[in-house]
Amino acid sequence: MSADEERIEDVVIFGSGPAGLTAALYAARANLEPVVYEGVEPGGQLMTTTEVENFPGFENGIMGPELMETMRKQVARFGTRFVLDECTGVDFSEWPYRFTTSQGGGRARTIIIATGASAKYLGLENELRLRGHGVSACATCDGFFFRGVEIAVVGGGDSACEEASFLSRFASKVHMLVRRDAMRASKIMQQRVFDNDKIEIHWKAEVVDVLGDEQVEGIRVRNGDTGEETDWRHIKGLFLAIGHRPNSGPFIEHLDHDETGYIITKPDSTATNVPGVFACGDVQDHTFRQAVTAAGTGCMAALEAERWLEARAAGG
Ligand code: NDP
Repeated sequence: MSADEERIEDVVIFGSGPAGLTAALYAARANLEPVVYEGVEPGGQLMTTTEVENFPGFENGIMGPELMETMRKQVARFGTRFVLDECTGVDFSEWPYRFTTSQGGGRARTIIIATGASAKYLGLENELRLRGHGVSACATCDGFFFRGVEIAVVGGGDSACEEASFLSRFASKVHMLVRRDAMRASKIMQQRVFDNDKIEIHWKAEVVDVLGDEQVEGIRVRNGDTGEETDWRHIKGLFLAIGHRPNSGPFIEHLDHDETGYIITKPDSTATNVPGVFACGDVQDHTFRQAVTAAGTGCMAALEAERWLEARAAGG
């Protein structure tokens, strides 16, 4: 056993998005000297967005990466230790708990899981290249920038319907591309898009390429019936709404979770089914998925970890 493995931390936080960093801020200010394992994408999903206009406190908005850098500096001021490493496994069978990372591991009295979720993309080369330049997986973040232009939304679930409806407030027209001849979305959400004059639904339509050098200048669409491919040059923005994947891999077999892998927390709490293990942010929230709600639950997780440690120390 290495020296690192012998050291027992009060609070270990996995993830460095708004949830993880807010948890660290509160834990550090409670003198718990938290350790943040930053994960494979330090800063989380906001690092891939451009301007964030809906995080309170920034009158003129702020770029996503700048917001995360500012948050990180604020957290570092109070003595948080950052480790550029990711959790690969946990062992909750004895307390203090053990965990492994890509480069080592350790032990902790409480663990806060803030590993977030990742939006699913189609996996096309040009789609990934133009991310943040007309390709987005977050209508709430980026919809505002598509005023008066035609855009496409891929997907046929509740998210796609919700995003298409939201985007119709800005875009001159929203084209919804559904890969089958039916949607997965609830009937009420479907009806909402059917009733919206600015939304046109294209059944059995698949995006096979994204066109443009610096910015989206069109998409290539395949007709699922005929296999015919056409370039839609009128499309200036592409929104993916084909689901999110919670980054709960290393924890999933140890914690209660739903069928899609989101960790289940107790009502009005970030507590999981394992005492002293808390989950906050998008890894446990498939409904709101906002930076500010993630930060809010990060705060809750740190306060709950602090109270849990106090109760445990008092023999509770
Ligand atoms: P879903 O998994 O429900 O739907 C994903 C959609 O994307 C499906 O239509 C699916 O098609 C399509 N899709 C998946 N992969 C591809 C691909 N490679 N190419 C093209 N299309 C693809 O995800 P959502 O994010 O919509 O919803 C997740 C959960 O969150 C659901 O439980 C939903 O009810 C909930 N939610 C609820 C809301 C509300 O009630 N207000 C709002 C948003 C989400 P196919 O059907 O063919 O697989």
